[in-house]
Amino acid sequence: MAAVSAATEGAHVTIVDKGTKLGRKLAISGGGRCNVTNRMELGQLISFIPGNGKFMHSPFSVFNNEDIIAYFENLGIRLKEEDMGRMFPVTDKAQTVVETLLREIKRLGVTIQTNQRVKSLVIEADQIAGIRLENGEEQRADAVIVATGGTSVPHTGSTGDAYPWAKAAGHTVTDLYPTEVPITLNEPFIKNKTVQGLSLRDVQMTVWNKKKKTIVTHEGDVLFTHFGLSGPIALRCSQYVVKERKKNPDHPVTLTIDLYPETSVHKLVQQFEQRKSDDGAKSIKNALSNVAPERYLALLLEHGDVDKDTPLRNVTTVQLEELARLFKAFPLRANGTLSIEKAFVTGGGVSIKEIVPKTMASKKKRGLYFCGEVLDIHGYTGGFNITVAFSTGYTAGKNAASDE
Ligand SMILES: Cc1cc2nc3c(=O)[nH]c(=O)nc-3n(C[C@H](O)[C@H](O)[C@H](O)COP(=O)(O)OP(=O)(O)OC[C@H]3O[C@@H](n4cnc5c(N)ncnc54)[C@H](O)[C@@H]3O)c2cc1C
Repeated sequence: MAAVSAATEGAHVTIVDKGTKLGRKLAISGGGRCNVTNRMELGQLISFIPGNGKFMHSPFSVFNNEDIIAYFENLGIRLKEEDMGRMFPVTDKAQTVVETLLREIKRLGVTIQTNQRVKSLVIEADQIAGIRLENGEEQRADAVIVATGGTSVPHTGSTGDAYPWAKAAGHTVTDLYPTEVPITLNEPFIKNKTVQGLSLRDVQMTVWNKKKKTIVTHEGDVLFTHFGLSGPIALRCSQYVVKERKKNPDHPVTLTIDLYPETSVHKLVQQFEQRKSDDGAKSIKNALSNVAPERYLALLLEHGDVDKDTPLRNVTTVQLEELARLFKAFPLRANGTLSIEKAFVTGGGVSIKEIVPKTMASKKKRGLYFCGEVLDIHGYTGGFNITVAFSTGYTAGKNAASDE
């Protein structure tokens, strides 16, 4: 997108990529469907970019989610809206997005060099002069846009190569950490795989700090895996687990799952009591079978010390109150997350404090620009990261063109 906007402004543009082809991460994004942007209004969009989202006000004033939609639709690529504003190509193929961009850069006369690894930036007297390739060759340029991505899913080419270049140019690189990554749990029921594959829909997950204060709550779906938790809300909560673990490395982080976010403990107890009078002869596991998935109910009953075969009429009100509390806040101990390589997105990166938000220009070196995931900006899953990459890329390209 940076190449598209720079070439549209009339610049001579070369893309240098170490991969055999361009857009490898884009091609696997959104489960191969590419969640290309999100149709939320701007204020809300920014709130879904927890990593320095406020910085995006300026790039979004140049090129935002609606501009992304218009850009593709003007090229004849129809997009469709799914839940929560998520936008996908109607073909359901990420390749459509990749091919559209490739066609456009070819039409605009952009030179493409693949299989070329950039080793460093060439800087002369506080001004960018070009790039140096791994084979020693130097390529001169009036402006350079660094769009090397983060360090997650490295087989796509994003291996964090540009952090040392940024440092050498005088930039700060904030600590890197995994975001939008599955959470690992230190629980016996995870180790013995009793709930592996179980998914819970429309639940709330809360991350707690050591002082038992809420850090964040997210609502949506969660999936139990053989190591812990995945699914949309686990991914959203993951960065807070990482940060809390960093603060208190010796303590697991408490998460709670609320199976009924709209219902109070009191209401749940009333419902259980009602079932007791209607169906008291049935075992508790059968009498409550339609209020929770079977394996989850078994887990809550075990945790609440209630034998699942006990007739409901023999379960005391105190036990039902405890069970209702577990429905509302089942505690889990998180001991970390999968690695940054397995994360969807890299947290941290080139500090936004040293970037001009209206142009994406470096405040340290003339002619140098940064865009996309290499920056210390990250969004939740839902189309927000590609939106950031396209918006900052377009802005960088447009402004770098005027350095020619
Ligand atoms: C599995 C997966 C699914 C995702 N799905 C979505 C989604 O649906 N929606 C969404 O918004 N976000 C999604 N994301 C996140 C999103 O894909 C990224 O945030 C986005 O691709 C970042 O774009 P970028 O251009 O900054 O970097 P990248 O897409 O990582 O591209 C970086 C490029 O730089 C090249 N490069 C790196 N170092 C060098 C070097 N030294 N020399 C030359 N070239 C180099 C690489 O080869 C690569 O082509 C997903 C991420 C993953 C891992």
